[in-house]
Amino acid sequence: MPILTKAPRGTGDVLPGESSKIRFVESTMLETAECFGFKEIRTPGFEHTELFNRSVGDTTDIVQKEMYTFNDKGGRSVTLKPEGTAGAVRAFIEHGLFNEQMPVKLSYVTPAYRYEKPQSGRLREFHQFGVECFGAATPAADAEVISLGKQIFDFFGVKDLRLEINSIGCPECRKKYQDALKSYFSEKEDKLCGTCKGRLNRNPMRILDCKSPICSEIASHAPVILDYLCDECREHFELVQKYLNAMEIEFTVNPSIVRGLDYYTRTVFEFVTGSLGAQSAVCAGGRYDGLTEELGGNPTPACGFALGIERFMLLLQAENIELPPENPIDLYIASMSPEGNILAAKLASDIRNEGVTCLFDTVNRSLKAQMKFAGKTGALFTVVLGDDEIKAGKAKVKYMADGSETEIGLDDFAENFMQISIGKAVAEFDGGNDFDLSSFLGNM
Ligand code: ATP
Ligand code: MG
Repeated sequence: MPILTKAPRGTGDVLPGESSKIRFVESTMLETAECFGFKEIRTPGFEHTELFNRSVGDTTDIVQKEMYTFNDKGGRSVTLKPEGTAGAVRAFIEHGLFNEQMPVKLSYVTPAYRYEKPQSGRLREFHQFGVECFGAATPAADAEVISLGKQIFDFFGVKDLRLEINSIGCPECRKKYQDALKSYFSEKEDKLCGTCKGRLNRNPMRILDCKSPICSEIASHAPVILDYLCDECREHFELVQKYLNAMEIEFTVNPSIVRGLDYYTRTVFEFVTGSLGAQSAVCAGGRYDGLTEELGGNPTPACGFALGIERFMLLLQAENIELPPENPIDLYIASMSPEGNILAAKLASDIRNEGVTCLFDTVNRSLKAQMKFAGKTGALFTVVLGDDEIKAGKAKVKYMADGSETEIGLDDFAENFMQISIGKAVAEFDGGNDFDLSSFLGNM
């Protein structure tokens, strides 16, 4: 029978082998964020559509073209989350997190959904690691968030990476800039793409972000926001740069980076790479001082970023950065009879309680086939439970790396096995010297 269906376009399965690598990457990101005081938050996979219309903004590509929006069976419009910030801000307001000591720092790893044209690094279901810092208006907060991003890339040893920053000012100074943009783009209106024609009056800053070649060529000669910043915004931006310099984080100022919405303010930034073609932005973020109020909360300054996990994995691959392999199988317990296999199940269960990875036969393999299978899994140790062993209450545990065998009692098998396996691990660490656990413990 042919396969019933394949995974939907733009989605992917993560198979064993790859999943442990992603888990390592995601937990490293969350743990690095923890060093900066960020605590994990989990929000729903879908929200009321108006949340995204309002927060992401209805002039953005996401809201105009990319959202998975549908009416549920109760007739309510819901949307699969296209990004993580909106849900975090909603939860911050809904649960009164503003009553806690500021700043409130939240981190997450979440799936996100966008109806895009799938290609490498651009999926319909993808994952973001993100952080949001609420209640800190200072340039120090912007710089701290940026330095977290940088620390993550550095931890993995990513090389082909540029940090680009910009300031898009506050609603006051931006007003003058919007006027300047409007008159610049109006003169070239007939050349703009259909979407940008619509943006001209509603939000001309979004034209700067358009990916069509003609629009981006026109945009490259447009007035630059940095020439319009008010004194406070200019000072904020200069201080962010001072903090980055002090932390020895290299950056370039790129005036074409925009977050063209009223509640995004001041600092915006992207970590970009040359290794991923058109999908060059791996991590993007900025300050959004007006968003919490826009969603019905008290005015609360905030900043954060989102980092695409799939793009990050592609980047590691492009740079040949190795990740730790899957945990090995520590022990395979082979058996020669139904009775032996029941004992194997019991011993496996005891030893798994100690956190040891252990397998035994559940598919009725012959002893020979069991040993072949154990070899294929790369089990570090094996033990065979035959009639003699069961009778004697003892069995030989074999260390596969060198074939050495140690006889241990089956009564306290788990404890005895732990002693051998810790011994071998430390001996290897120690350069292969013989290891004596009691003297090791005595020295501790
Ligand atoms: P792009 O300009 O590439 O479309 P974006 O500006 O839409 O990116 P953001 O909304 O800032 O991206 O999302 C933050 C990060 O999430 C991006 O830097 C990227 O790493 C990742 N990302 C965004 N869209 C996708 C997608 N469709 N597939 C995979 N990763 C994505
Ligand atoms: Mg996009």
